[in-house]
Amino acid sequence: MTKRNPDGTGLTRREAIRMSAGALLGATAMLARTGELVSLAAQGPGNNVQATPLPATDPRFPMPPSWNRELRQLAPNVYAYTQGGGPTMAAGVSNLGMIAGPDFLWAIDGSQGPAPAKAFIAASKQATGKDFGRLLLTHHHGDHTGGLQFFQHAEVWSHPYCRDEVLKAVQSTPKMWTPTPNGAADISEPRTAVVPMLTFKDDLTIFVGDIEVQFKHAGTCHTWGDMMAYLPKQKILFAGDIGFFWVAPYANNSYISKWIDTCDQIAGWDVDVIVPGHGPIGGKKELADMADYFRVLGVEARKRYDKKMSPGVAAAEIRLGKFDNWIGPERLIMDVVRWYEEWDDTLTPDYNAAAVRGATVEYNQVKAGQNKLAEVIPLARMDAFAHGC
Ligand SMILES: [Zn+2]
Repeated sequence: MTKRNPDGTGLTRREAIRMSAGALLGATAMLARTGELVSLAAQGPGNNVQATPLPATDPRFPMPPSWNRELRQLAPNVYAYTQGGGPTMAAGVSNLGMIAGPDFLWAIDGSQGPAPAKAFIAASKQATGKDFGRLLLTHHHGDHTGGLQFFQHAEVWSHPYCRDEVLKAVQSTPKMWTPTPNGAADISEPRTAVVPMLTFKDDLTIFVGDIEVQFKHAGTCHTWGDMMAYLPKQKILFAGDIGFFWVAPYANNSYISKWIDTCDQIAGWDVDVIVPGHGPIGGKKELADMADYFRVLGVEARKRYDKKMSPGVAAAEIRLGKFDNWIGPERLIMDVVRWYEEWDDTLTPDYNAAAVRGATVEYNQVKAGQNKLAEVIPLARMDAFAHGC
């Protein structure tokens, strides 16, 4: 389809996806290095491999909207910082929240790296004249924790599971930031891991000036230690990665059926505005849509699970209707793997990298066998997901 991307770039969605995927991976070169290009090309028409993870766009259904990278005021002293979004861009860089108190600012999450962290901090300072003093980490994934070092004087609070996972990652954190294709880092500079200094397990209410903020444990859900920030008077929920709007949800560390339960519970709360971890600001409708993504996927995956089909082959067959147009369609593979593990009773809090990798290889074999080479997922892309979203 030739629908124009309304973000002003003049690119079609497909062109933008290609650019994005190419920038992320140097896609074809990356495949060639891993030797996959050769084996896949052998099954397809010559070397004309478009190694871009294209979604199976379905023109019967709406495309994701575009949204701005901006600090947006939601209520007096309450702000959301959304990452620039088109149908393809920056889906893996997380949104942030900010609540301004009389003396200092609270941040919700630390973003993925120097560029978004510095941009958010500068925008917050400009809007309020204040600095950050405390920060709630919604969970441990790198796209929420990478930028913590730039919130220099802020105490970081989290669920204990989140702290444990951040601590585990300290040893493997590189000593330097180097520029990343997705814009999380744009220069080389020293890198330091920051570990939360205060943990709490259950719900906790704080008052930021006269704003009541309820930190709520989401239960076992996107991870085993997600926190959300709910402002009952303003009817705003900073959901962290309980919410993926127009972006395929990332379930590598998730308990999907309990995640759906959490979404259903939130549907009963007095909430008008939900700031998701990824995607544009929305509300209960968008959260219900995301839960439906998992439901539809669960029904389709279960049929194939019952036929003893492997998860990668199942993922290659499954069509999700309107959700096929969501950003990051390749996440369907990891999400099928997690559904299967739930049914097999083998689910653990940890990401099963080997299972996702194996499923991706199978998925690619099916796509290559059908000559759908544009839908082949570079393994490097799937491996990169190990660091969270
Ligand atoms: Zn995330």
